[in-house]
Amino acid sequence: MQHPYETVIGLEIHVQLNTRSKVFCADDASFGGAPNTHVSAVSLAHPGTLPRLNEAALGHAIRLGLALGCEINRRSTFDRKNYFYADLPKGFQTTQDQSPVCIGGSLRITPAAPDKSQPSVIRIHHIHLEEDAGKSLHDQDPDDSLIDLNRAGVPLLEIVTEPDLRSAEEVAAFMTEIRRLVRWIGISDGNMEEGSLRCDVNVSVRKQGATSLGNRCEIKNMNSMRFARRAIAYEVDRQIGILEGGGRVEQETRGFDPATGATYSLREKEDAHDYRYFPEPDLPPVLVTETYLETIRAAMPTLPQDMEAAFRSDYGLPAHDAEMLTQEQSTTAYFIRLLQAGDAASMARPAANLVINKLLPWSAEAGKPLDACPVSPEQWMEMLVLIETGKISASTAYQRLFPALLDSPASSPALLAADMNLLQNTDTAYLETIVSAVLARYPEKVAEYRKGKKGLIGFFMGEVMKDSKGKADPKAATQLLERLLV
Ligand code: ADP
Ligand code: MG
Repeated sequence: MQHPYETVIGLEIHVQLNTRSKVFCADDASFGGAPNTHVSAVSLAHPGTLPRLNEAALGHAIRLGLALGCEINRRSTFDRKNYFYADLPKGFQTTQDQSPVCIGGSLRITPAAPDKSQPSVIRIHHIHLEEDAGKSLHDQDPDDSLIDLNRAGVPLLEIVTEPDLRSAEEVAAFMTEIRRLVRWIGISDGNMEEGSLRCDVNVSVRKQGATSLGNRCEIKNMNSMRFARRAIAYEVDRQIGILEGGGRVEQETRGFDPATGATYSLREKEDAHDYRYFPEPDLPPVLVTETYLETIRAAMPTLPQDMEAAFRSDYGLPAHDAEMLTQEQSTTAYFIRLLQAGDAASMARPAANLVINKLLPWSAEAGKPLDACPVSPEQWMEMLVLIETGKISASTAYQRLFPALLDSPASSPALLAADMNLLQNTDTAYLETIVSAVLARYPEKVAEYRKGKKGLIGFFMGEVMKDSKGKADPKAATQLLERLLV
């Protein structure tokens, strides 16, 4: 039976930008630093100071807008969102309420199982530029909360989606895609643990088939996908429980407690008027000229989703491989260099396999980028060709030649393999001697095989490999065994 309720989710995602300085002043915007050392009078909005927009932050906003197919507003404006809180030194947050930098747009997502079936297109309402607040630290002093204002004024983009998401899996897919995108276009490190990517999750439920939306709750500040999933699951159950009991879901802002897995009420939902929004008098409107927009557009890289699709259609790579190879621009670039070193059409699959299963793990373990690998793409391609032409078995290549090459990166793979005596023996007479010896050694097994226990072929192959010290060509040996065993 179909579940009688449908989950409806809209996200407000905060992306912390990787500019060197803050969004309205020259203070250092980098993560960390001793508390309150990245704070000047401007960050604190002392009387007489004036903010000034960091152009790099604007450029990043436009880059994301272009990547998501948004309309770029040629004239956007800043507003003050007023509220009193200890970590908000100015007493207001400078944000964009009336005219944000980007309007509309969408992102296609393909959720993992069990929702894998269909990609969905999630519409974006708008993206605006704003500043972050400071941070209250509740675990540094036994009596008092302490405040670190280093983060106050760091540039954020807020991506507001339409309520188009239908499950926690879709939320996870959306966040994963945004993370890949912001890293790819170079505007943020997308690090959820350090808080450079976080989201508020608006959740409501409604009866299947209903056309109007149910009342929603907003769960604040999810900074891990695992927590977001649990929070959504809990919240959906809670709301269905209320509705089934004849009650009404109150629109409110809620928190999530990882210890209990429950969401809890923080406050009633504020309305816009609670914030006394008004235009920021100290910042002029932002005018984006056609030339400026064109310069940014011209420098945009091919987007990861397009690259992924091209890897699948041009080289027939499996979905998972294409996705792995487009997680980072550096991985994609390395893979392309590898393909350029050989026959791309026939070598794409083995090349993908090498990058995903060997080189990425090497890079993670060595703590070095792929292009710092001492063995060149040309050399790797030479190794792959040895495998593909049957000169060396894949297992010998990966287990022995691969580490040997990393140890002596100047060598030619073919010469090194010959030196190490790793090249396979396809010589028929040699093979026949070994295979016959193996069959002579196990007459009962030969009889069983002939009676139908065909699985024994694996056993015979194992013996042939042992006798040849791994150098027998598996294909030739199998053929020979099958011939002699009939
Ligand atoms: P507000 O102006 O009150 O903040 P918005 O209309 O701007 O509300 O929506 C904020 C976020 O909440 C958006 O991501 C939107 O998609 C989402 N949202 C709005 N209504 C619902 C709903 N009924 N259920 C789930 N999400 C919703
Ligand atoms: Mg809103």
